[in-house]
Amino acid sequence: MDKLFIKDIDVRNKKVLVRTDYNVPLDEHGNITDDTRIRATLPTINYLLDGGAKIIIASHFGRPKGGRTPEFSLRPVVKRLSRLLDKEVIFVEDCIGKKVKEIVDKMKPQDVVLLENLRFHVGEEKNDPEFAKALGSPYDVFIQDAFGNCHRNHASMVGITGCVPVSAAGFLVKKEIDYFEKAVNNPLRPVTAILGGAKVSDKIKIVRNLAERVDKIIIGGAMAFTFLKAQGHEIGKSLVEEDMIGEVNSILKKAVASGIKFYLPVDFVVAERFAADAETKIVTYQEIPANWYGLDIGPASTSLFLEAINNSKTILWNGPMGAFEMDAFSRGTYAMVEAIAKSHALTIVGGGDTDVALHKAGETHSVSYISTGGGAFLRLLEGTELPGIAALTDKKEYAKKAQMAVTAG
Ligand code: AMP
Repeated sequence: MDKLFIKDIDVRNKKVLVRTDYNVPLDEHGNITDDTRIRATLPTINYLLDGGAKIIIASHFGRPKGGRTPEFSLRPVVKRLSRLLDKEVIFVEDCIGKKVKEIVDKMKPQDVVLLENLRFHVGEEKNDPEFAKALGSPYDVFIQDAFGNCHRNHASMVGITGCVPVSAAGFLVKKEIDYFEKAVNNPLRPVTAILGGAKVSDKIKIVRNLAERVDKIIIGGAMAFTFLKAQGHEIGKSLVEEDMIGEVNSILKKAVASGIKFYLPVDFVVAERFAADAETKIVTYQEIPANWYGLDIGPASTSLFLEAINNSKTILWNGPMGAFEMDAFSRGTYAMVEAIAKSHALTIVGGGDTDVALHKAGETHSVSYISTGGGAFLRLLEGTELPGIAALTDKKEYAKKAQMAVTAG
């Protein structure tokens, strides 16, 4: 990574603002039901604690749209964070202003403060320069560790970096970028990308980008039907995006020309209705009945995909192979979970539903890395630069400035 990393800077006695993604799920009583996002930031916070920094944490929570609403308060996070760190966490009821400055000025090294929801201010989502200045001005250092939000051009992700002396990546952001680099930019080959899910239109940029970088692309899920239709097959009542057919054809043509192997399902679990209790049968891709829905890949496709994956040294996976929320259409997705879990390749998984399937199968420990950033991970797969990372201080620039300071001094 060409951006500054937390370990590249001196944090002792410094007022360090850490941007985290504490957008955690709560139950009806306000209890946190999954604290993965909080735990994911502990390496950065513990590193700062050990380094003797004053730690101020900022995060968004839900979508309050600039309104100060109690159900979007970050207060429920205080207790859990405090327990995980085994130390007091001071909560401040705003993220900017006099009160924040007063508390920050009184902080001692190793104190931890959690600020109230950034999105209680409309300036946050608008990347408003005044808000960014108010947010950043009390601090010496900014650490970006909210990977899941790095695709957003918000004040606490982008504008803020112009309002603090130095901005660096935390451990979570570095880990995400390093794994991505290993999987896409500098991978051990062959690399196989497995893509599934509902809509080609959501993933077309990913398919186009990966078709220039990986060795094999496996397409499952409802997406496969647009590819099959593009090749002239009948797909019954299965989901299809007619307006994507031209684009899909051009990608397939390019892939063939450059030797990328595309694997499409060769059979399907089809159903009379889109329902868990519908009558089902397994048919080949050439025999999908006119009024039936293709809702999962069939056993022959699973065998084909497993064989294609078999010699891969790197595997990337996003999106289920079928409507896996219903048991009758979940086999294909879970067969891929098992194959990836057993593989000796570097395996990287990202995107909400894929993560859910891994959790349900109890196989989260069997993959090399599960990305914490749904949208941000998808943007990386598309080949799009993440604004929250692009805005951080450049390593070379920082070294040049430091050298100039030494020479001048
Ligand atoms: P995405 O958010 O694009 O990754 O899509 C995930 C959704 O795609 C899941 O809710 C699946 O139920 C759905 N899905 C996958 N395959 C199919 C299919 N063959 N027909 C309908 N929905 C599907």
